[in-house]
Amino acid sequence: MASFAHRRQVFLFLVAVVLPCTVLVALGVFIVNQEHELSERRRADERRLTTRQIRQELSARLSSICANEEIRLQSEGGSLVSTQYTHPAVVVVSRVRNGSFVLPWEQNPDTDLALRSLSLESYAERIAEGERAEFVGGDASAAVTAYERALESASYPAQQSYARLLLGRVSLKQGHNRAARRYLNTVLGSPSDRTDEFGVALWSYAASRLLEAGDSQTDVLDRVAAELDSARWFSPGQLYLFRDLVDTVTAEATDSAIVDQVREVSLNLADRITTTEHTIALGRELAGLPISLDPASATQTTWVLWDGADWLVGVSSSVEEVAAGLFAVRAQEIFASLEAVAATGTATAATLDANPNSDGELLGAEFPGLRVHFAAGVPGTVGESWNLRRLFYLAVILLVVSVTLFGAYLQMRDVRRELATAEMRSRFVSSVSHELKTPLTAIRMFAETLRLRSTKPETQAEYLDTIVSESERLSRLLNNVLDIAKIERGAKVYRREPQALGEIVQASARAMQYPLEQKQFNLRVNIKDGLPPVNVDRDAIEQAILNLLANAMKYSGDSSDIHLTLEKAGREAVVEVADRGVGVSAEEQRRIFEQFYRAKTEENQHIPGTGLGLTLVDHIAKAHDGYVTVESALGEGSKFAIHLPLEESEF
Ligand code: ADP
Repeated sequence: MASFAHRRQVFLFLVAVVLPCTVLVALGVFIVNQEHELSERRRADERRLTTRQIRQELSARLSSICANEEIRLQSEGGSLVSTQYTHPAVVVVSRVRNGSFVLPWEQNPDTDLALRSLSLESYAERIAEGERAEFVGGDASAAVTAYERALESASYPAQQSYARLLLGRVSLKQGHNRAARRYLNTVLGSPSDRTDEFGVALWSYAASRLLEAGDSQTDVLDRVAAELDSARWFSPGQLYLFRDLVDTVTAEATDSAIVDQVREVSLNLADRITTTEHTIALGRELAGLPISLDPASATQTTWVLWDGADWLVGVSSSVEEVAAGLFAVRAQEIFASLEAVAATGTATAATLDANPNSDGELLGAEFPGLRVHFAAGVPGTVGESWNLRRLFYLAVILLVVSVTLFGAYLQMRDVRRELATAEMRSRFVSSVSHELKTPLTAIRMFAETLRLRSTKPETQAEYLDTIVSESERLSRLLNNVLDIAKIERGAKVYRREPQALGEIVQASARAMQYPLEQKQFNLRVNIKDGLPPVNVDRDAIEQAILNLLANAMKYSGDSSDIHLTLEKAGREAVVEVADRGVGVSAEEQRRIFEQFYRAKTEENQHIPGTGLGLTLVDHIAKAHDGYVTVESALGEGSKFAIHLPLEESEF
């Protein structure tokens, strides 16, 4: 029966709690997953959109850069020598002719002219004559004569400068320093388009000689600075010579103004050299880059990130038919401006790179290898916000499940209590009926025997005593039941008057004397003297003591000793009933004062009782501002004590 009820409870619990909880959790997980998928899809869309935006923006910018540069080139007659580009991110603008890269500094028409003039016949002959005399014959004055004649016959400015340079050199050898300085200083002041075959300006050779002679430091430095400030490409040879000049000045400079100027010029120069070296490297590697060098065949310009210098390099069809325009721009500068644009729109923080191992979104065929990366926490990544949301959903599901389980637990507890109370009530009815039946049967039996008048006078007296004792037991029981009913209704009233507690204890002992003797109990009463009268309801206190004495009798087992004492302990009067009977376990001690509660031991099942006696004792004690204590151990007996407070004056 019990196991059926248990199974029914388990079934109900499963159907009413576990099943809905499981459905709820499954539904929650399903919704969370779906939302995750949806947001993933949304993110992927946003990612694609951002990538497209970036591609279009980048493409538009680069096209406009190319177009502007072409216009500039046209206006400058196609000369590549200027470094004054229309956009600050542009580093190189050049041409690809027949599949090979044209170095910008090799495209200076002025220097070409200068170079050609140096090899004109009569002039070149005189120079050669002078050099023979200077180096082969070791005849400096013959060399001077030859060079002077060359100077006279010079019809181009470059020829004049070159002859003066040689004159300066040979004069220095001769020790004619003043003459040498005059020649060299003239060359130092000559324009930069007078160059030799390496594209090196003649004035810079003169500067070198002058510095060797310990002269013109400031002039040389000023000239180099002015040259570097001019927006022109220089050949690598020219730049290295500039570096030598600056190094020489640095080594000899003492003036702090010169030192500062040198520092500035050096930085500028280093920058120029790096760009020039990178340009040379780009020229070497250009053929290997995945871009078409013949853009006329392609529908659009392709741009690659050249990692030699982190430049975006592209070759676009040029207005000139023979050459295609080559453009290199500083990638990071362009990217940074793009990212700023992207961040203001729907798109968010994105970076670009060309790392083949990274997992960013490919930008498109126009930009082979370039990838867009999205920062964490923004579209394109499963960001923190999603993790937070998932945590929130989990917490909500957990909360709902825990609240449901807790509710179910409370409900179950209530149901159990109801069941237990119902069971206790039914037990109470059967035990009260049983308790009533026993004394009534005894009374009836003895009364009927007496009616026959055949018994001896002593036996008659004994029968009458039994009848009185049993009816007293009956009224005690009924009193208990009635009192409990009154207490439950809240109608129980205690009439307290100053009473001698000793007398009440004595009266209780007397009332129990007959049943005690009948069952051969040995009741020892010990009343301490000197206790002042206590303000109590006499009947109620007597009823409480009688209940304790009746319990001591019922639960004494084989023992027959009961000890009733009254004593003063501090500010309390204590009535104690002690027996050496079956005792109460520690767990049961906490519950025996509950209504209808009876200890669940085997022997207790055979002892009649209603579970109301101690409830009443407890109530009476509390109604007198006191309390009841129990000291007991199984098999060793029990001590129940009623503690009643003494009034201030009674101490
Ligand atoms: P009843 O005696 O009618 O069962 P009580 O309220 O008087 O009801 O007592 C409640 C329970 O406390 C008893 O069923 C019994 O198990 C335990 N009990 C009371 N007095 C004693 C005692 N003196 N010794 C051992 N157990 C006791």
